[in-house]
Amino acid sequence: MNRGHKSAVALAHQFIANALPENGVAVDATAGNGNDTVFLAEKMPKGTVYSFDIQPEALAQTKVLLEKQGLSNVKLIHDGHQNIDSHLSGPVDAAMFNLGYLPKGDHSITTKPDNTVVALDKVTKMLKVGGRISLIVYTGHPGGLDELMAVENYLSGLDSLSYWVTGLKFINRPPTAPVSFFVERVI
Ligand code: SAH
Repeated sequence: MNRGHKSAVALAHQFIANALPENGVAVDATAGNGNDTVFLAEKMPKGTVYSFDIQPEALAQTKVLLEKQGLSNVKLIHDGHQNIDSHLSGPVDAAMFNLGYLPKGDHSITTKPDNTVVALDKVTKMLKVGGRISLIVYTGHPGGLDELMAVENYLSGLDSLSYWVTGLKFINRPPTAPVSFFVERVI
């Protein structure tokens, strides 16, 4: 883990925290190591977190973290985020995407541009007014740059009256540093 990664995660948490009512509904599109799921569940003690991953190891690790914190307001879903609408219909207060591969897992299993964009489109349409989405995109692995372009292309097409969208990169770090996007539905 490098500094760019840590600060990207911290910024995403700051941005998302403001969109989480204690009884809200949030989506962790990539459970991974479970940190975002725990963050969302802690902020919404009376709410529900839907946490997706295609790897059983990721969900198992997330479950351990949740049990450690005594959190039971999470639905762990072993399915691709592109199928989100099979599991919830919205509306949602927030969604988080931390893309790429699981650092301690199989680095050849990464999120894929097509699935990411389908999931992002579905969850964007489920977003409440005032709801927020964060994405962290990693470009250092094969396919990572394609994913960055796909995400940026999708987001750049969102109606600017309804959605406020920004992108952030670490200007003085190598091009492989993570790139973040922040979305808020404003009307
Ligand atoms: N790169 C981040 C961690 C990303 S973890 C970091 O360094 O912290 C990304 C997770 O997405 C992995 O656990 C992977 O199994 C999961 N994933 C890949 N494709 C997915 C899909 N279609 N739906 C849901 N999760 C997926």
